[in-house]
Amino acid sequence: MDKISIFWFRRDLRIDDNHGLLEALQSGRKILPIFIFDKNILDKLPKKDARLEFIHSRLSLLHKTFQEKGGNLSTFYSTPIEAFETLTEKFAIENVYTNKDYEPYALDRDHNIEEFLFSKGIGFKSFKDHVIFEEKEVVKDDGNPYKVYTPYSKKWLAKFKTIPLNLFPSEEHLDQIFTSESKGIHSMSELGFEPSGIKIPDYDVSQQIIDEYEAKRNFPAVKGTSKLGLHLRFGSYSTRKAVQEANKSENITFLKELIWREFFIQILWHYPHTVKDSFKPQYDRIEWRNNEEDFKRWCEGKTGYPLVDAGMRELNKTGFMHNRVRMLVGSFLCKHLLIDWRWGEAYFAEKLLDFELSSNVGNWQWVAGCGVDAAPYFRIFNPTTQIKKFDKELKYIKKWVPEFQELTYAKEMVDHKFARERCLTTYKNALNAD
Ligand code: FAD
Repeated sequence: MDKISIFWFRRDLRIDDNHGLLEALQSGRKILPIFIFDKNILDKLPKKDARLEFIHSRLSLLHKTFQEKGGNLSTFYSTPIEAFETLTEKFAIENVYTNKDYEPYALDRDHNIEEFLFSKGIGFKSFKDHVIFEEKEVVKDDGNPYKVYTPYSKKWLAKFKTIPLNLFPSEEHLDQIFTSESKGIHSMSELGFEPSGIKIPDYDVSQQIIDEYEAKRNFPAVKGTSKLGLHLRFGSYSTRKAVQEANKSENITFLKELIWREFFIQILWHYPHTVKDSFKPQYDRIEWRNNEEDFKRWCEGKTGYPLVDAGMRELNKTGFMHNRVRMLVGSFLCKHLLIDWRWGEAYFAEKLLDFELSSNVGNWQWVAGCGVDAAPYFRIFNPTTQIKKFDKELKYIKKWVPEFQELTYAKEMVDHKFARERCLTTYKNALNAD
């Protein structure tokens, strides 16, 4: 039996400009593409999950494309190690190709798979695809990681000017796909999932969006951002292509947002403990109130502060929330209600279509004041004046809180001035406790 090689899809669910896939297809072996519905992850998800639905729809597209080439995508519903045990029993395999994933769970998983394959004489080859620059490529002159965004972004941009942005035309080499018996991919019900009822929003990376991004991005009622988050997370849109589009504009504000994404990816790689611990350890001394009833009201969008409520209701209904409002609801939870940022992070992780561990943890720590390059703790958004700045005509609020009437809306669950003072005292007590 001729040896084959495998391409393992993970957070790169596309045919075009896929680095690892191109390397596999050019290796001279026939390539069997696979995807593993990882039981370690799936078993923890709610049974209605729009992200899983999205992954499934992308896999169906990949499967169809491979079928046109006489092959198919093989899916597994197991742990990764079980999938590779099955594959190594069934096929003579030369190499497993994949793209790198930088999250702590993934690093551990890949290390174990690589060892297992090594024990069978099979190579494990992984490639940079999810980012422009990896964790060790943009560091200070002394080799240490950056912990502040602005100098990081300057170095990133300077380095970017010195490299060609080569795409990887994997879509042109699909005739190397292995011809195997064509079995369909696992269905949603086989995986134990039900339809979520959430629609995936269209993304827009047109030059108009990018050129006008700086002027429009802060207003949640305006269509001024790309909605690319989910696609960058699962790789259904290539990071290189996004950066290429961003770089065509004279205004680099949008490009700088893509750099924030890489900033947080490298922070999580260098400081994996920040998944659970505050980057600034003294902030873990804060005596959070963690009132469960208050948390429930926040989750449901019933705080009595209409912009906070609109944001939470948008999230619950659509899986998306505008960045400006994410900052406000985050600040409100941590500072007005004194609820631990980890509670908010976990709620967003469950609900956000574009949930990305590094960005979610990084931004939650930013709003709580406890992270790298965080907002100073005494900066406490006023949830009422934020309306005047960002939703003056109340369009966003009225869309998500249709019962909103200025004079008769539900009573605010906590007085702003009181909450502000309580927050400052609590934070000061924690930070001065040495
Ligand atoms: P655009 O405004 O069009 O930006 C383009 C892309 O740049 C985004 O898709 C994203 O990949 C990246 N980006 C933009 N802003 C940031 C940022 N502040 N940090 C990191 N990357 C950024 N973003 C996530 O991708 N996943 C998360 O889980 C996440 N959680 C967040 C939690 C909180 C509390 C806050 C305040 C922000 C969070 N963000 C997160 C950042 C930001 O809100 C979203 O990336 C953005 O709103 C997504 O909308 P968009 O795709 O239209 O982004």
